[in-house]
Amino acid sequence: MALVVQKYGGSSVADASCIKRVAQRIVATKKGNDVVVIVSAMGDTTDELLDLAEQVSPLPPARELDMLLTSGERISMALLAMAIANLGHEARSFTGSQAGVITDSTHGKARIIDVTPSRIREAIDQGHIAIVAGFQGVSQDTKDITTLGRGGSDTTAVALAAALEADVCEIYTDVDGVFTADPRIVPAARKIPKISYDEMMEMAACGAKILHLRCVEYARRFNLPIHVRSSFSTKEGTWVVADPYNEGTEMEQPIISGVAHDRSEAKITVVGVPDKVGEAATIFKTLADAEINIDMIVQNVSAAATGRTDISFTLPTADSQTALAALKKIQPQIGFESLLFDDQIGKVSLVGAGMRSHPGVTATFFAALADAGVNIEMISTSEIRISVVVGQDGVDAAVAAAHRAFDLDADQVEAVVYGGTGR
Ligand code: ADP
Ligand code: ASP
Ligand code: MG
Repeated sequence: MALVVQKYGGSSVADASCIKRVAQRIVATKKGNDVVVIVSAMGDTTDELLDLAEQVSPLPPARELDMLLTSGERISMALLAMAIANLGHEARSFTGSQAGVITDSTHGKARIIDVTPSRIREAIDQGHIAIVAGFQGVSQDTKDITTLGRGGSDTTAVALAAALEADVCEIYTDVDGVFTADPRIVPAARKIPKISYDEMMEMAACGAKILHLRCVEYARRFNLPIHVRSSFSTKEGTWVVADPYNEGTEMEQPIISGVAHDRSEAKITVVGVPDKVGEAATIFKTLADAEINIDMIVQNVSAAATGRTDISFTLPTADSQTALAALKKIQPQIGFESLLFDDQIGKVSLVGAGMRSHPGVTATFFAALADAGVNIEMISTSEIRISVVVGQDGVDAAVAAAHRAFDLDADQVEAVVYGGTGR
């Protein structure tokens, strides 16, 4: 009998009727397969819990925030188990900790370090459907409850699928698969039938929240294919695999696979940094010690007259208060003049393995942005990606312009958004 791991995102379990519909789909899969299900919190519950936390404290203790946020997934797992029981099947719900999801102790963005799913195995062996709360685990050292970062239920699903040696890992969401751009912004986006782990990792890292970055990293490590599809339709979705262009010959490698965007970052500029050896190292060591992930960095040429330079970098907006506080502490030591903060930015990225062998991609991209009247503030590249930072109000226009410039627009609209608020 095959073992199928299915993950249902927040919009797929947004209310009681959604939960009942998903329960039916699970029961149908159970006929002929063993099934393990991972669930996210209902609808926008996680955002609502974050809003609530902010109302009681502007910078809540990370341990307590994790404790609060994991309650969202516990609600949906129990309700889904009840709905399945109501259809006459045995279902058992498990928290991340009960399911054996062991993490490091970094609250808010914990990494899975081991998965010991003996209770899930037991449930399967007894013929039960196991329902696991996504996005959470337990720290090996502190024994505290942790969360894996926003969108982390995808990673729970892949980690459990790998540990249980599942035959399939299906990620059910509110669109029909991975598209060439977010269908909420580009209605002419096309569904990608198969995409490589590498390209999907770049898309996820650049803000395409259809899959959590760690989930793709994990799947690549275990060579586990992921099937991303809609819980609102029965259409075949997108397969994320190692080498999509080699398996069968139906797909030719496109130059550009997709356009991703991200509005969740902010920019900090450290103004007037003395242009001396080691100053940048001190700044970024301070940020690293505060566990802040830096994305793009730009250092201006120092003005000869002052011997000072400006250093700008982008980081998750959620970490910006922590970063600003850490930098203020070292201001006397470094002697920089001031800090500037801008959270009205967005990042637009072109991703495609084919750009390695095609010159002129950057020129076409930048010309498209210029034609759309979008100003570029920062640029960064990797072998298969070009990213720019633009003003937040230019993001939609930039994504649409890039999508069109690389002939990604579909002739007929196929991008359906079935649910969710896009929050
Ligand atoms: P879930 O709650 O099911 O995990 P998410 O909201 O995390 O769903 O992810 C699905 C959403 O990702 C879609 O509704 C869509 O707006 C967004 N998205 C962003 N980029 C893409 C893309 N390239 N292809 C498909 N969806 C995308
Ligand atoms: N509920 C969590 C979030 O909204 C985890 C997830 O949905 O994957 O980020
Ligand atoms: Mg998600």
